[in-house]
Amino acid sequence: MALLSIVLPAYNEEQNIANTARVLSRVLEESGIKYELVFVSDGSRDNTFSEIQKAAEGNRRIKGAEFSRNFGKEAAIFAGLGMASGNAVVVMDCDLQHPPEVIPQMWKLWQEGAEVVEGIKLSRGREGLAHKLSAGLFYKIMSRLINMDMNASSDYKLLDRKVVDVLMTLPERNTFFRALSFWVGFRTESVYYEVQERQFGESKWSFISLMKYAVTNATSFSTLPLQLVTVMGVVSILFSIVLFVQTLIRYLSGTAVEGFTTVILLLLIIGGFLMLSLGIIGHYIARIYEEVKGRPKYIISRTTQEAAGGRETGENRRIEDDKF
Ligand code: UDP
Ligand code: MG
Repeated sequence: MALLSIVLPAYNEEQNIANTARVLSRVLEESGIKYELVFVSDGSRDNTFSEIQKAAEGNRRIKGAEFSRNFGKEAAIFAGLGMASGNAVVVMDCDLQHPPEVIPQMWKLWQEGAEVVEGIKLSRGREGLAHKLSAGLFYKIMSRLINMDMNASSDYKLLDRKVVDVLMTLPERNTFFRALSFWVGFRTESVYYEVQERQFGESKWSFISLMKYAVTNATSFSTLPLQLVTVMGVVSILFSIVLFVQTLIRYLSGTAVEGFTTVILLLLIIGGFLMLSLGIIGHYIARIYEEVKGRPKYIISRTTQEAAGGRETGENRRIEDDKF
């Protein structure tokens, strides 16, 4: 019987783990899906990992790992994908903002042959104004840059084993999971869901972290900002031609160019363009530098398997064959 793995990145979510594990187990057992839950604690500073361990002791379908520090949600998702052994893998937030009731629908579409099932947000749920604005701006920029409608898409999706294996072979360090699942293609279906209220704890995104996320993802997925540099160059050349002609005419007709105002303005404009362009190029060089170093995406410090005294060897780690 096919196994479904659920990957749940968790950063400082001690209040959510037990509840999420309980709710998910109930939903999946009720719909008769054989499952495993893979919690990845993203270098949490609270008791998230011991909560995961507790849950794993109570239910052998639960496993988890802890990062050595906070590597970000993307890294946690990829670590989870690496640990998942299912024939299909669902990635979802562990704060239950992604309603678990949708999983059986995803599972059904997968059984009918879909290889990627995208979770599409019907609305964005209730968020603070600042968060809404920054998230809105973020998605606008991203959608423009990578030419996909990002506003409704989310990290809530089901991937077939084939797709997971392809994602795991991608060599890049700076990943953007949400867009990569579009990029790889495959037979894609969608399910729609309402974003739920977060039950415990608070959102981990600040305005600054969201902007950083936007810039990192935009530059790891698109070279459009670099082309922008060329556009700026062309604009200033056109501008200079006009000024050149005007200056020449004035010179020939004997009316001297007035004062320094023009010179100062030109210096400022060109200086601004140059610095901005250098900044953009610098950003890409930083990205290249990071990729070239080839450091791992994440470092795992502990897993529930080893915490259980190394009991989980290849033999009993596989739960495919056990009775449901
Ligand atoms: N998360 C993570 N690492 C981080 C930040 C967040 O693994 O550095 C996880 C978090 O625990 C949650 C999911 O990513 O399961 C979504 O985070 P959050 O609920 O804070 O974001 P929001 O729902 O507000 O967009
Ligand atoms: Mg959330």
